[in-house]
Amino acid sequence: MAITIIGDSALLSELYEHVKQYIYEPQAKNCVFSGQGNLKVILDEDSAGYKYLLEMSDKHQLHPHISQWTSYTKSEQDQAEYFQMYLPFPLEIEGTDAADYGTQYKGGCLNLKCQLGKKLTGNVLIDRKFMKKWDIGNLRPDIYVSEKLKELICSNGLTGVSFEHEVKDFKGREMPKFYVMDIKHTLPPMATSTWLIQDEYPHQWYKECGHQVVYLRSDIQYEEEKMDRSFDFNLSAEYIDNFRLQEIIVSVKVRNLFRQHKVYARFFPVAIIK
Ligand SMILES: [Zn+2]
Repeated sequence: MAITIIGDSALLSELYEHVKQYIYEPQAKNCVFSGQGNLKVILDEDSAGYKYLLEMSDKHQLHPHISQWTSYTKSEQDQAEYFQMYLPFPLEIEGTDAADYGTQYKGGCLNLKCQLGKKLTGNVLIDRKFMKKWDIGNLRPDIYVSEKLKELICSNGLTGVSFEHEVKDFKGREMPKFYVMDIKHTLPPMATSTWLIQDEYPHQWYKECGHQVVYLRSDIQYEEEKMDRSFDFNLSAEYIDNFRLQEIIVSVKVRNLFRQHKVYARFFPVAIIK
C-alpha cells in the first residue's frame, strides 16, 4: 500500500520514525521523509506500521491518501495500449481554481457547493503569474496546453480533443498563448475489479446530492470491449479523489508523442481485461 499524508512536519516526522522499519525494502530510498509536510511510504497491509499509520491518521484527522502500490515492469509498460495520464497543477494553492478568477461555467450538479460536471462557457481566467512553463497541466477542472503542444496534437492527428477556448490572464495582461484542451469522450464505467472506494465520512457539502469523494486505490481496469469506441484522449466516467476530476485515459500514441517531444506528464498502464 502506498500511503501519502500531508500535515504538520513534526507530527509526520514522529510517524515516519515509527513506521520506517516496516517500509517495503526495495522502495525504501523513495520513501525517506524529507522533513517537509508530505510523508509518502509503501507498507505491507498486514504490517504493524500500516495499522499504526491508520490509527494515528484517525486520531489526528490526517485523511491519508491510500492506494494499492502496483509496479509494472518495463515490458509490461511497453505492451500497454492505454495509460492513465497524470498532469501537473500550476495553481497549487489549496482551494484555488479557475472559477476563483472569474471563469464562467454552466450546468453540472444543481447543488451549488458541488457543481460536479460543470462545463466551461468561455475562456479560462487565471493569474498569469501562476502559469509555469509546462506544456500541459490542470487548471481544474480544465486542462490547458501550450500552443506548441496543441500544434503537435493536431498535426499528429490525435483524436478526441478540441481547443475552442483559451487561457487568459484575469486582468487582461499579456501572457503566452495557452489553450483549453477539451476531451470529448467519456468511457463507460471502469471494470468492477478496479478498486474504488467512497469517502467513509462524506463531506457535508456533498451529502445532499450524493456526489461524495471517490478514491482510486488500484490501477485502472477496463474490459476490452469498453475501449472499442475510445479515442486517443478519453475521460473516465468516475470523478476521482479530493478534487473530483475525471481521470484522463490516453492511447499509447499520446504517450509516445509526449515522450518524443519531452512533454512532462506521467503515464501509468491501464489494465485491459480480455
Ligand atoms: Zn453534486
